[in-house]
Amino acid sequence: MVEIRSVHKSFGSLTVLNGVDLQVRTGEVTVVLGPSGSGKSTLLRTINHLEKVDSGSVSVDGALVGYRRAGNKLYELREREILRQRTEIGFVFQNFHLFPHLTVLENITEAPVAALRRPKKDADKAARALLARVGLADKADAYPRTLSGGQQQRVAIARALALEPKLLLFDEPTSALDPELVGEVLDVIKDLAHQGTTMIVVTHEIGFAREVADTVVFMDDGRIVEQGPPGEVLDRPRHERTKSFLSKVL
Ligand code: ADP
Ligand code: MG
Repeated sequence: MVEIRSVHKSFGSLTVLNGVDLQVRTGEVTVVLGPSGSGKSTLLRTINHLEKVDSGSVSVDGALVGYRRAGNKLYELREREILRQRTEIGFVFQNFHLFPHLTVLENITEAPVAALRRPKKDADKAARALLARVGLADKADAYPRTLSGGQQQRVAIARALALEPKLLLFDEPTSALDPELVGEVLDVIKDLAHQGTTMIVVTHEIGFAREVADTVVFMDDGRIVEQGPPGEVLDRPRHERTKSFLSKVL
């Protein structure tokens, strides 16, 4: 589903991604770990073209992100085509990013109606089903500010699912939550994982990684230092930097 090849990305003189290769198979869950500043968010952002890579390539479901091929030439996609590509990838942020002036239901139906031109009635029906799936059937008419952080994040997940994405990206989805609210959000993500949703999850929740990841990736300093099944990377890390990181978060 995702094929990242030799990706480099700098901001000015700061190299943030320094030759990243990563493959994610359809239906698999990849958990990305690593210290702050190691490039995890930037990597996720290149996958839906919120960041443009300096060199290397990213493709999702066989299509190059931001480019199209014609013969042996590459052409940059227009903004409109990039936006369309982006609708195929759900992104859940650390800080929810809900629209404060819209109700929960409107937050979820906005993109399907505006971007995919779904009839309002169909979008409403689908949104209510998604709310039930994340355990918030009774919150359709509430405004985000009246919800707990855990509830807001579950709405954000329902909103991402409303576009029926091929791929879901989570950037530290529980890092902004009070500890007692982390579980309810992880449970929703676990459910999605068990239903075969392809996802990449940046998180420091090692228990979650152990339970649902097919592959754990450890990043440091713009590179993937180590990757493999959770039983290997978490329990028998081979690299000093992985060991040292795990000893701090476990
Ligand atoms: P992580 O998510 O692992 O904490 P990030 O990908 O957010 O790491 O950031 C990696 C490095 O890139 C950090 O040093 C950060 O300050 C820097 N960085 C990220 N985005 C930008 C940007 N838009 N402009 C300049 N520097 C950035
Ligand atoms: Mg980050």
